[in-house]
Amino acid sequence: MRGVVVVGAGHAGVEVAASLRTGGYHGPVTLVGAEEHHPYERPPLSKEMLDDGADPAMISLRPAAFFADHRITLRPGPVVDIERAWQQVKMADGRWVAYDHLVLATGASPRRVELAGLGLRGVAELRTLNDAFALRASLTAAKRLVVLGGGFIGMEVASAAVKRGIEVTVIEQGERVLGRAVSPPVSQAVAAHHCAQGVRLYLGERATEVVGEAGHVTAVATESGRLLPADAVVLGVGSVAEDGLAGRAGLATGNGVLVDRWLNTSDPLISAIGDCAAVVDPSTGSSRRVESIQNATDQGRYVAARIIGWRKPFRAVPWFWSNQGSLKLQLVGLVSNDDRRIVCGDEERFSVISVRDGRLATVESVNDPGTHMAARRLLERATPTEAELMDVDYDVRALARQMMAKEAAVA
Ligand SMILES: Cc1cc2nc3c(=O)[nH]c(=O)nc-3n(C[C@H](O)[C@H](O)[C@H](O)COP(=O)(O)OP(=O)(O)OC[C@H]3O[C@@H](n4cnc5c(N)ncnc54)[C@H](O)[C@@H]3O)c2cc1C
Repeated sequence: MRGVVVVGAGHAGVEVAASLRTGGYHGPVTLVGAEEHHPYERPPLSKEMLDDGADPAMISLRPAAFFADHRITLRPGPVVDIERAWQQVKMADGRWVAYDHLVLATGASPRRVELAGLGLRGVAELRTLNDAFALRASLTAAKRLVVLGGGFIGMEVASAAVKRGIEVTVIEQGERVLGRAVSPPVSQAVAAHHCAQGVRLYLGERATEVVGEAGHVTAVATESGRLLPADAVVLGVGSVAEDGLAGRAGLATGNGVLVDRWLNTSDPLISAIGDCAAVVDPSTGSSRRVESIQNATDQGRYVAARIIGWRKPFRAVPWFWSNQGSLKLQLVGLVSNDDRRIVCGDEERFSVISVRDGRLATVESVNDPGTHMAARRLLERATPTEAELMDVDYDVRALARQMMAKEAAVA
């Protein structure tokens, strides 16, 4: 028996390997990582790990003994090639590892933009633990930080830097922050929170050059003619799927490794999960790639179960969180621009309820964890109609309580 080989020891890769064992899989499980560190959690990299003295041991995905105890062979990579005809992968050291089933969990990398000056010292991107160490060192000395991109990572880094007393400017080319992921009311709340903390925010603004002196960044020039002084710059302009290995092996790709509803690639002996995988919607032919811990974890668990024998297609309710200083943002469902929205709560603590095709589609919560948890419980069971929501005056928690009470009565 050749067993299962997993490429990528991040959230998705570790989850599939661990779930194979907890699900009773007896064959060999090999987990190939490409980083020098023991598998670790990525979300703290833009949050706690930017604080002085934060210890990387706190962010281990599993204790060191876990892998040996569960007969999961951790191998240093990277995998450089897949020989599909012979069902084997080639490691960087030239050795081959054979598989019965291969799982690609190669994640994503920071999007690179064409901009002069990105090679200057003081310019950082953030994906790995080594990136976080480098950024933390740079923030220790920095007085002025410019963040390029008002997405989740950019805004989280802005919070961490402001906490250190650094003067922070965020440049976002869109008209609002977090524009791809949240609705306008949430963007507004996030922007207001950062401005209240002293972050300077330029929306609808583009960087044209990172300017430097003696090899170190000194400023960022913008399209509208601003020259923003900086001794540190963070690039937070999104990420791209790590699908090169799959593409070279002849698997179908397109903004990620294309997978069907069973998370199979175009080769049924190879699955793809997590940030690298783009799930194709059979009715429209379009594909969607989700970058979140929930998605990586649920897809890892699902593929393990499917390898063991589960036969239903993948289904999960997407959810996400982001902590930006005292602001706690939590989302359930994927936001769409065409939704009808109802805002419940006050300026400090509220949730935006979105209705699509007459049913509850997403709930975005700002400092409102109770509503978030209730929305997850609801959407994991059913998609309530707008009439049901209106009956409780859009109180998602009340509707969740009703549903639980009904379930308990039936049981
Ligand atoms: C700074 C930061 C903050 C985040 N914060 C949040 C958050 O608050 N909430 C949230 O839900 N999500 C957050 N995310 C997103 C979340 O971390 C990702 O969605 C998640 O890590 C995806 O897991 P993955 O296993 O698919 O990919 P990854 O965790 O990226 O793991 C992929 C691994 O595969 C390895 N690899 C790639 N190619 C090869 C190869 N050829 N051979 C061997 N190994 C290979 C890579 O080195 C990497 O270690 C954050 C991400 C970042 C970068």
